[in-house]
Amino acid sequence: MRYVRHVADLVGNTPLVELTRVTAGIAATVLAKVEYFNPGGSAKDRIARSIVDAAERDGLLGPGGTIVEPTSGNTGVGLALVALERGYRMVFVVPDKFDGEKVDVLRAYGAEVVLTDTNVPPDDPRSYYSVSDRLVREIPGAFKPNQFANPNGPRAHYTSTGPEIWRDTDGRVTHLVAGVGTGGTITGTGRYLREVSHDTVRVVGVDPVGSIYSGGPVHGYRVEGVGEDFWPESFDPAVVHSYETVSDAESFAMTRRLAREEGLLVGGSSGMAVVGALRVARDLPADAIVVVVLPDHGRGYLSKIFDDDWMRRNGFTASENTPRKGPHS
Ligand code: PMP
Repeated sequence: MRYVRHVADLVGNTPLVELTRVTAGIAATVLAKVEYFNPGGSAKDRIARSIVDAAERDGLLGPGGTIVEPTSGNTGVGLALVALERGYRMVFVVPDKFDGEKVDVLRAYGAEVVLTDTNVPPDDPRSYYSVSDRLVREIPGAFKPNQFANPNGPRAHYTSTGPEIWRDTDGRVTHLVAGVGTGGTITGTGRYLREVSHDTVRVVGVDPVGSIYSGGPVHGYRVEGVGEDFWPESFDPAVVHSYETVSDAESFAMTRRLAREEGLLVGGSSGMAVVGALRVARDLPADAIVVVVLPDHGRGYLSKIFDDDWMRRNGFTASENTPRKGPHS
């Protein structure tokens, strides 16, 4: 019989899927590493597992313990899966502006969600930061993964995502392209691929316009999960050779094309990463192999990127998603 003991055992070993439609006119091979095949639907399942394993090893988390993390999205789902596997209580602290479908997913997994007032400064006792710190102090056996500083985030990608890409391309990958949020994905995966290839693999970070990593003025943007306004400890910028900076409009248009043309229903940061990958691939010869990481599923964005009204209300064109007329209509 072939089966696993728990769904959390299915983290990792996601497939590479060739992009064949959005790559028209490009000679190089572009392969998407589709992270929504993880059981929680994103690359964050990988870091959740490695962070919890390390916390148990270091005696920071044990029987009867509680995982407390400020997160509204994919990291929460990944942590929920591991918490369910191992019997931990989970409390996620979420600014109330994020309340909605993504937070309902956390509740569906049985997590407790503490909503905090979005409109107070960070040092206010009601803020996201203050409340999560207080809960960690007050709940006995509480452990805070802190994905922006925990070295076991990038380590998960060094020990899994990187080796999987090397194995599945028979060591022929020439370029890695990934969006940068906490930086965990690009730091761990990029470091592994550079080491194993004797530094021939080029590592390209993709960043939203307005984020700090690629320089330029820091301001707001709509793509979720990538970019920052500070430099987190989970990111080692030395791993990255160069950056591509992508606007929300380009990211969202590509996200919609990936669904309609490639059958890949993915999130906005995936569209962003593919825009960066195609810019890189355009100038490469036919024997180049570009691997681009697609971090999460598109189902969490149906009421945003895939909603024509939301797109128009936010100043984006929605033309890629209008129904195509058949020959008789
Ligand atoms: N895309 C999405 C949707 C994410 O949630 C994240 C994680 N913040 C990323 C991309 C970026 O990954 P990383 O944090 O490893 O840089």
